[in-house]
Amino acid sequence: MNSKKIVYVGNVPIGGGFPVVIQSMTNTDTLNSNATLKQVRRLYERGAQIVRVSYPDISHRESMKKIIEGSPCPIIADIHFDYKLALSAIEIGAHKVRINPGNMPKKHLLKIIRAAKEKNIPIRIGVNSGSLEKDILKKYGHPSEDALVESMQRAVKFFEENGFYQLILSVKSSDVMSMIKTNMMLKKIFDYPIHLGVTEAGGLLRGSVKNSIGIGNLLLNNTGDTIRVSLSDSPLYEVDVAKMILRSIHINSNSPDIISCPTCSRTTFDVIGAQKIIEKRLEKSNKNITVAIMGCVVNGPGEAKEADLGITGSSEMGIVFKKNKIIFRGSKKDALKVLLKEVDNYGTQD
Ligand code: SF4
Repeated sequence: MNSKKIVYVGNVPIGGGFPVVIQSMTNTDTLNSNATLKQVRRLYERGAQIVRVSYPDISHRESMKKIIEGSPCPIIADIHFDYKLALSAIEIGAHKVRINPGNMPKKHLLKIIRAAKEKNIPIRIGVNSGSLEKDILKKYGHPSEDALVESMQRAVKFFEENGFYQLILSVKSSDVMSMIKTNMMLKKIFDYPIHLGVTEAGGLLRGSVKNSIGIGNLLLNNTGDTIRVSLSDSPLYEVDVAKMILRSIHINSNSPDIISCPTCSRTTFDVIGAQKIIEKRLEKSNKNITVAIMGCVVNGPGEAKEADLGITGSSEMGIVFKKNKIIFRGSKKDALKVLLKEVDNYGTQD
């Protein structure tokens, strides 16, 4: 069971047993509202349910407002240091603000709390090594897991004492083991929704591995309510990887899966080429479909038959399977065409 408390970001519930929510963050210039809105829409179409946008400066106000108003999904305003930006974001309709309370004086936090209460929007409390209070850092000597958790306890206590409970908690770390440990500790102490992610995780390959281990491990231990895979790459991949993590651990079946063999000297079908084409075809799909792509007729048919759709081939021909039945035998080129048509139509004919 994840957190019992439910917090709504716009119309998206987080926690309370609702499905894990996928989020991502734009990397366009917030001042360029058209480019940012375009990216928000693409992220949303790809499967992000909420999107975070940096609000770095008050000169971005009009642009930020346009983004919030034009977005198809709730927008989180990412605020650093300046409480006035948080107040401005709340005023122009942000569905949530993300702040690091450790970086703000209490009198400023109070103003944010009041404004968020008035508009009935949640606040995500972020704690990281850079936002630790000086006395906590001194006590522990370095930003250890205990130090991060103590900082979070202090922040939560302050919000609760001031009657604010619409909180989402996040402690970020670029170290996977530390990220797992701190979030396990958070889960034991608090019943607020937890935001998971390995921060500054690296590029597509390394970042996907780190995030899959960190996020996957915690979700399998019933910890975490919303996730962001952070990658030094297109944020669209962040959404793809997030969907793949959820699908792999059977948390969310609203995304496709591909089973493809690693290829070997027996390979008689272009698995790698077909895999790329099919992956591309499925990138925006939210169909619960498994497609198998196998390189030979030795092991291929067995695996392909288990999937919803499958393709394999001998040196002469391509074979397409659908739910355990062969539906096409012919040229490899035509087999791929048949498979793609079946992928497009899957779930629409039954
Ligand atoms: S399915 Fe066939 S081609 Fe693919 S790895 Fe196995 S034996 Fe090799």
